[in-house]
Amino acid sequence: MRIALFGDIHANLEALEAVLADASGQGVTDYVCMGDIVGYNADPAACLEIVRAMNCPTVKGNHDEDASGSHSLETMNPIAATALEWTRQQLTAEQRQWLARLRMVRQVSEFTVVHSTLDQPANWNYVTNRFDAMSNFSYQFTQICFHGHTHVPRVYVKSAKVQEVPAESVVIEPGSKYFINVGSVGQPRDGDWRACYAIFDLENNLIVFRRVEYDIAKTQEKIIAAGLPAMLAERILEGR
Ligand code: ZN
Repeated sequence: MRIALFGDIHANLEALEAVLADASGQGVTDYVCMGDIVGYNADPAACLEIVRAMNCPTVKGNHDEDASGSHSLETMNPIAATALEWTRQQLTAEQRQWLARLRMVRQVSEFTVVHSTLDQPANWNYVTNRFDAMSNFSYQFTQICFHGHTHVPRVYVKSAKVQEVPAESVVIEPGSKYFINVGSVGQPRDGDWRACYAIFDLENNLIVFRRVEYDIAKTQEKIIAAGLPAMLAERILEGR
């Protein structure tokens, strides 16, 4: 069995479609979504409907939460807030309610899924080093937990101590715990513009990261045509 772990789609339809086509070509039969389906880019409703129709386990991201509500976005960075105000207008009340009802944490098969961290999922903390990962591990009761949020693929392993290992192929070893960021489909921030997701091959205890090219010029044109901040079109190409 091969499961695709994907998230931080951020309303990038071209990237989402390319990832789903790639996963299907890789023999994936099951899907799990890390959240942040909407926000930043120009196709929130289309991406939401695709993920909803997949009927796969999905956790809530901070942008899903902000797009589903009507609270003030004053404390957020202005570009993200502008995109979220626009996103709210693109979604129906029923679509916003679907986002609002997503759960913060899911257990799927023998692993856990969360958008940010297990210690305080509603605080949306960013895990950028092994010390941040340590507090997560105290609350991680499955061998593997997949997450997103920073848009950077990362692998933290806890055996005698917590270490970060390169986000390449990861062989799951008995006796170790893994906290794995699967990267971002729609707005990667590791300097590589290509859509990122991971495949968990259960028979071989192997997790591989995939990078997928997509029609980024089309995504950029849609961002500009929608009147969203031009910086959002620039950053997807820079991968920042
Ligand atoms: Zn995100």
